[in-house]
Parts: sequence; structure tokens; C-alpha cells
Amino acid sequence: MKIIVDFDRCEANGVCVGIAPDMFELDDDDQLTVAEGDVAADRVADAEEAVAQCPKAALRLA
Ligand code: SF4
Repeated sequence: MKIIVDFDRCEANGVCVGIAPDMFELDDDDQLTVAEGDVAADRVADAEEAVAQCPKAALRLA
């Protein structure tokens, strides 16, 4: 399971970073980056929480 970001929707407000800073990061230009590869089994709950809490509905798991 991977995290997919719709960069057309993301407004770089950092909500997901606050929930799971090991999976999401905002750089100095407010560009969101997401950890590559599959979400670890013990991190799926936080990944799902980030998806649910993103105010722009820019995240999904696939
Ligand atoms: S919570 Fe959503 S809008 Fe905010 S930085 Fe993360 S992906 Fe972008």
C-alpha cells in the first residue's frame, strides 16, 4: 500500500506532516514529499488518519 498525493489539491498546510512526520515532509519551498515505497504495516493506521484528516482531500492509499 502506497500513499498517493494529488499535488493539484495539496495546499501544503502540513496537517499530514503533523500526523505522520516519518511519512510526510514539507521542504523549504512548501513542496510536500512522501516516503517512497509501501507503508509499513505498523504505520498504516497513521497513514489512514492522514488521508482522513487532509482538509483538501489530496491523499489516498493505493
Ligand atoms: S494534509 Fe493534505 S493539503 Fe495538507 S500538506 Fe498534507 S496532503 Fe497537502
